[in-house]
Amino acid sequence: MKILISSRGGYCYGVQRALDIAHDAASDSQGPIHTLGPIIHNPGVVNRLAEAGVSPVDKPSQVESGTLILRTHGVTPQVIAEAKERGIRIVDATCPYVKVAQEKASSLQQQGYLPIILGEHEHPEVVALVANAGERAAVVENAEELKIGTVKGKKVGVVVQTTQASGNLAALAARLAPACRELLIHNTMCNATQKCQDEALKLARKADAVIVIGGRNSANTTRLAQLCAEVQPRTHHIEDVEELQPEWFAGAGTVAITAGASTPPEQMDAAARWLEDNSP
Ligand code: SF4
Repeated sequence: MKILISSRGGYCYGVQRALDIAHDAASDSQGPIHTLGPIIHNPGVVNRLAEAGVSPVDKPSQVESGTLILRTHGVTPQVIAEAKERGIRIVDATCPYVKVAQEKASSLQQQGYLPIILGEHEHPEVVALVANAGERAAVVENAEELKIGTVKGKKVGVVVQTTQASGNLAALAARLAPACRELLIHNTMCNATQKCQDEALKLARKADAVIVIGGRNSANTTRLAQLCAEVQPRTHHIEDVEELQPEWFAGAGTVAITAGASTPPEQMDAAARWLEDNSP
C-alpha cells in the first residue's frame, strides 16, 4: 500500500503559537491559569495542558484571580472588558489572522457598510466577528442563506470566517455582486487553511481512501473531511488512530492522510504506522 501524508496537515501557525503561549504562561505565571474554552479542539492536548496547570473555563465569571488565556478564535470586546473589570490578567493568544478579520469587521461598520459575515452561526470566531461588526451585521453560512432583499441597492461589506472554503466565498460574491450598490469583500480566509485544503484535495484525487484526523467539533477538520469526501467518497474522519477499521481500506492501493489545524502532526505518522501494520 502506498501512503501519502500531507505536508500541510496538523498544527497551523496560529494553533502552534497559542500552545507555545499557553506553555510559556504555565511556566512563568503566578496563580491559577485558565483558557477561555478548550485551547484547541483536541482532548488529548487539553488534558496534557491541564496536567501542566492550565485548565479551561467557560466564562470569565468562573475565574476569581490569576491569568486567562484567550484562544485562537478570539473573543468579543465585551468578554475582554468583563475580564479586565474582574482584575484578571489577560494573555491574548488570538490568531493574528483572526485579529485581522476582527479589524476588518469593525472597519466595515465604521465606513457605513452593511456587514455580512460568511461563517458558521454559533462558531466562537464568528460570534466575535459579529460583535466587532456591530448590530447591523448578518451571518450567512452560504450563498443560498442570503436573503437578497436585505442587500438590494445597499453598500455591503463582507468578512469571512478564517476557515471557510474559497468556493463558498466565490458563490456568495456571485450572488451579492448584481444586487448591491457597492460591494467590498475582505477575503479574511487564512492561508494555512487554504493550503491545507489544497494539499489534501491533491492527495485525495490520487488516493483510493482518505483519513482525516481531528476533533469532530473542529470546524476546520470537519470542512477538510467534507472537501476530501467530495473527491474521494471513501474518506474517514477520525479523532484518534484507535478508530481506524481495516475494512475501510480493503482493496485500496493508495491511502492519503491529512489532519486538521488542531491535530498534533505526529498523529498522521501514527495513522501511517497503523496502515502499515494492518493493511491486508
Ligand atoms: S487556521 Fe489559520 S486563522 Fe485559524 S488559528 Fe490556524 S493560522 Fe490562525
